[in-house]
Amino acid sequence: MNVVLVTGGSGLVGRAIQNVIENDKRENEKWIFVGSKDADLCDKESTRKLFEYHKPTHVIHLAAMVGGLFHNMSHNLDFLRNNIHMNDNVLHMAYENNVMKVVSCLSTCIFPDKISYPIDETMVHNGPPHSSNYGYSHAKRLIDVANRGYYDQHGRLYTSVIPCNVFGPHDNFHPNDSHVIPGLMRRLYDLCKDGNTEDKVFTVLGSGKPLRQFIYSIDLAKLIIWVLREYNSVEPIILSVDEAQEKSIAQVAETLAQTFEFKGKVIYDTSAADGQFKKTASNAKLRKYLPDFQFTPFKQAIKETVDWYIKNYDQARN
Ligand code: NDP
Repeated sequence: MNVVLVTGGSGLVGRAIQNVIENDKRENEKWIFVGSKDADLCDKESTRKLFEYHKPTHVIHLAAMVGGLFHNMSHNLDFLRNNIHMNDNVLHMAYENNVMKVVSCLSTCIFPDKISYPIDETMVHNGPPHSSNYGYSHAKRLIDVANRGYYDQHGRLYTSVIPCNVFGPHDNFHPNDSHVIPGLMRRLYDLCKDGNTEDKVFTVLGSGKPLRQFIYSIDLAKLIIWVLREYNSVEPIILSVDEAQEKSIAQVAETLAQTFEFKGKVIYDTSAADGQFKKTASNAKLRKYLPDFQFTPFKQAIKETVDWYIKNYDQARN
C-alpha cells in the first residue's frame, strides 16, 4: 500500500487534490491530507511526530508561507526563514522515514528577474530573483538544491513541480495578503454586496498591463497527481497553461467584472507597484509527456471559482 501524505492539504492546492482524488481513487493508495493544525512544519519535533504517526511512503509537499506581492515585499525575511525551516524539516523527515518519493512545489515567480523568455526548467538558478520576493524565492530554490543532494547522496527520488499562478475554490481571499485573482474577487464581492450599481468604482492596483499565466487549481491537482504517479526524475517540471493562454491583469479584471455582472466602472491605479512585467513560462516539457491534456477554459474556471466563493463566502479565508 502506498501511503501518500499531503502537507498543505488544507490550502488552495491541497483541497483541489482532495477533490480530484475523490473521483480518482486507486486501491493501492491511501491519501492523508494535513494542515497546520496537524503539525507545525517549521518545528522539527512536530514534523517528526507527524511522519512517525502516518508512516508515509510518498509525500506531496505543498505547505508553505504563501502571499501576494505586497505581503512578500514587506515580509521577505519571514518568507525566507519559515519556508527554509518547513522545507528542510519535511525533506529530512521524509529521508529519515524512508520515503522514496517526494513532490515539492516551487513557483514560476522564483525565476531570475533578468531572464530570456519563455522561461524553462533549466533557468531556476541563473541569477537573482525579483527584489519583491527574494525571501520566498531563495527558500524555494533551495528545495531543488536539496532534491539533487538527496538523490546524489542517498538515491532518493525527491523532485519538484513549478506551477504558474494558481486560483480556484479555497483560495486565500484576505484583502491585504492574497494573490491577484482572489484579491480582485474579494473586492468585487464587497463592492456588489450592498447593491451592484453604476456609481461603483472597481479599482485595480497597478497598470493592468503585466502578463501572467494562471492555472485552475483543479487542473494543477490532476497534474501533480500525475507527477507523483508517473514522473520519475529529480529535475523540476513546469506545470503551466500554454504560452498562448497568458492573460493581462486587465483581462483578468474584465473577466471577473463580467462574471460578477458588475455594473460600475473599472479603473487602474497606476501609482501602485506592478511587480514583474511578465514571467512567461514554457510548458514544452509537460507537453512532451501529456500532449493532449486539456486545461479548463479561463472563463469557465473563473465562473466556477466565483460561484464557489459566493456560495461559501462565510467559510472562505477572508
Ligand atoms: P495556501 O496558502 O492555500 O496553503 C498553504 C498550506 O500550507 C495550508 O494548508 C497551511 O495550513 C499550510 N501551512 C502553512 N504554514 C504551515 C506550517 N507552519 N505548518 C504546517 N502547515 C503549514 O497555499 P497554496 O495551496 O496556494 O500553495 C501550495 C503550494 O503551491 C505552495 O508550496 C506554494 O508555494 C505553491 N505555489 C502556489 C501558487 C499560487 O498561486 N497559490 C503558485 C505557485 C506555487 P493551514 O491551512 O492549516 O494554515
